[in-house]
Amino acid sequence: MLCSGGILEAIVEDSKSPDFLDKFFLRCGFATRALHAGEHVGQPQQTTHTGAIYQSSTFVFQSAAEGAEIFAGERPGYIYTRLGNPTVKVLEAKMNALEGKEAKLANPELRLSSLAFPSGMSAISSTLIALCSQGDTIIMGDVVYGATEHLAEHILKRLGIRTVEVDTSDLDRVAETLKANPKAKVLLFETPTNPMLAVTDIAEVVKLAKDVNPQIKVVVDNTFATPYLQRPLSLGADVVVHSTTKYLCGHGSVVGGVMTTICDEVKDAAYTVIKDMGGNPSPFEAWLVNMGIKTLPIRMDRHCQNAMAIARYLEEHPKVERVYYPGLESNQFHQLARKQMQDFGGMVSFDIVGGIEAGRKLMDTIKVFTLAVSLGCVDSLIQHPASMTHACVPRDKREKAGVTDGLIRVSVGIEDVEDLIAALDQALAKV
Ligand code: PLP
Repeated sequence: MLCSGGILEAIVEDSKSPDFLDKFFLRCGFATRALHAGEHVGQPQQTTHTGAIYQSSTFVFQSAAEGAEIFAGERPGYIYTRLGNPTVKVLEAKMNALEGKEAKLANPELRLSSLAFPSGMSAISSTLIALCSQGDTIIMGDVVYGATEHLAEHILKRLGIRTVEVDTSDLDRVAETLKANPKAKVLLFETPTNPMLAVTDIAEVVKLAKDVNPQIKVVVDNTFATPYLQRPLSLGADVVVHSTTKYLCGHGSVVGGVMTTICDEVKDAAYTVIKDMGGNPSPFEAWLVNMGIKTLPIRMDRHCQNAMAIARYLEEHPKVERVYYPGLESNQFHQLARKQMQDFGGMVSFDIVGGIEAGRKLMDTIKVFTLAVSLGCVDSLIQHPASMTHACVPRDKREKAGVTDGLIRVSVGIEDVEDLIAALDQALAKV
């Protein structure tokens, strides 16, 4: 039952209300926030231990007068799940606490907002549609998730929104591109990138962008790093997007997304996109992501440890030509990753001798690792971009991006690392 007053006071969030980052959590570490922050935000009842799942499309008003007041925004309360839902609200409040603590401590006036979506692509597309209109330009990292690139090339282009690509790990190129497009509305990039794990200096890119155009919104896709390893808002970014499908959920059981911003106008515009285009997540899936986030720090520690051990093992293997992992001292992005990230993440890519056939053989032989796309699951996944995700990309374009025939991408899980290394060892012996 929706109770009146008290507990529900904070649930109507608009640009004038305070954010949901409880001051208490500004003093807490990441693990405490992952477990506790947001748990009681906007909850009609506070008696459940694990957050309740409000699997309901609509909400009951106690009287016509109450309904009228809630509709008019004169009284807090839920109306209809596309417009807001208590389970989804917990996820949004928790993301404020995870992405926003450092930014908020540095500037207590900041108002943080998060919005949850039914997929990472929904978070990205809704954010871009919220920010851009016909005639606008987006500057985008030249290596972004395939669907983000398609969104720009097809849907946004059809709406009259132009995209310019740039290698955001190259600051000179970023500066040139910004100067050539001084009115660009958005600069969007991923760091580390997929599958080559290139790292972009977020603080430097933000500085370059704001020097040219203080109004530009810098949007960072933080999916690979997660807020445990990297917090773009504290480095000056305006917006962070995630595919919660990956590490945030962590169990491969959900497709979801989230956006966190320090800009009210971005949040308000993206909320309107959800409301009017219908991109709200299901309460059950938001709940699964909430459950996943509670163990994010310990999972990430283990992902990072295992990935480092695997990268070191692969670096010494005679059938491996090259390993891409920013944790290796030999990696060109190592120093930057050390400065910008708490650890180096759970993704490792490597080139094997023998090209496409060797890649296929490895996929068909390997034990323990599951042959599947996606990433960030508790268990290890392996894939061969040349015969799978990048098979439709012309070879020259693919190789220019570093995706050779022998490239293998591993999402390192939290299994016993000895078993993972033994599995790789046996499979590599057969290629
Ligand atoms: N961003 C990155 C970096 C991704 O890897 C993905 C998916 O793999 C997405 C966004 C899209 O997320 P979703 O599949 O949840 O829509």
